Amino acid sequence: MNKVAVVTGGSKGIGLAIVQTLLAQDYQVYNLDITPSDVGFFVPCDVSQVAEVTHAIEAIAIKTSRIDCLVSNAGVHFSATIENTSEHELDRIFSLNVKGAYAAIKATLPSMKAQKNGSIILISSDQALIAKRNSFAYNLSKAALASIAKTTALDYAQFNIRANAVCPGTIETPLYHAAIDNYCAKSGANKQQIHQEEAALQPLGRLGQPQEVANLVAFLASDAASFITGSLQVIDGGYTAQ
Ligand code: NAD
Repeated sequence: MNKVAVVTGGSKGIGLAIVQTLLAQDYQVYNLDITPSDVGFFVPCDVSQVAEVTHAIEAIAIKTSRIDCLVSNAGVHFSATIENTSEHELDRIFSLNVKGAYAAIKATLPSMKAQKNGSIILISSDQALIAKRNSFAYNLSKAALASIAKTTALDYAQFNIRANAVCPGTIETPLYHAAIDNYCAKSGANKQQIHQEEAALQPLGRLGQPQEVANLVAFLASDAASFITGSLQVIDGGYTAQ
């Protein structure tokens, strides 16, 4: 029987690479996203809505009778200092980035507990370890995901359920391009130049690619990572080592 994986935000960017990689390893992959996709089984779901996530994952569990891996990946970026972050924006970022992960994990745990096996992977950020300027709410949300990985690892180790956070640096995805486009529109800066400057900030001299993050996720999902839990896995081309 194929292993079953649930991925949130699997239609684009890092999530899409994760869905493709797990499919190539013969997982049945369910993608909960607001953007339609024909890669894997697409489940329309606004991950910022706890009830929608719960309903979607409960339906998958009834259909498949097992969930081996959950990748909580859906997330949005928001650039602003604390003063420029409205309560509404803070709630919007938290609803998707943090409460979405909470809802997905909570709905997945009954299956994993029954199996006495499972791997939960949260896509956090290097911003769980370091701060970046003009990034108050996003930074906070990603630090929260690192905390969720640790508390979930401790509470569910007795069921042989592992939980880890993946902390990518700057990865070239639609989210990255949208953030740069937004910055250039506001500042009048040249996109190519900003892109080159961003690459030069990384010790490896380039941005990461979604497939590189997906490779790490596939490893954490596998039995090869059977003693890894409660960890923060940095994948950032050396950025946080500086
Ligand atoms: P992306 O914007 O390229 O893709 C995000 C996906 O999430 C899309 O398929 C989108 O449709 C989906 N999505 C957005 N809102 C949703 C919602 N309400 N419900 C369900 N799905 C929703 O983003 P990405 O760059 O691939 O980022 C994926 C994750 O990786 C995010 O959590 C992000 O914070 C994290 N991350 C990205 C980078 C980076 O540099 N790109 C770095 C560190 C961490």
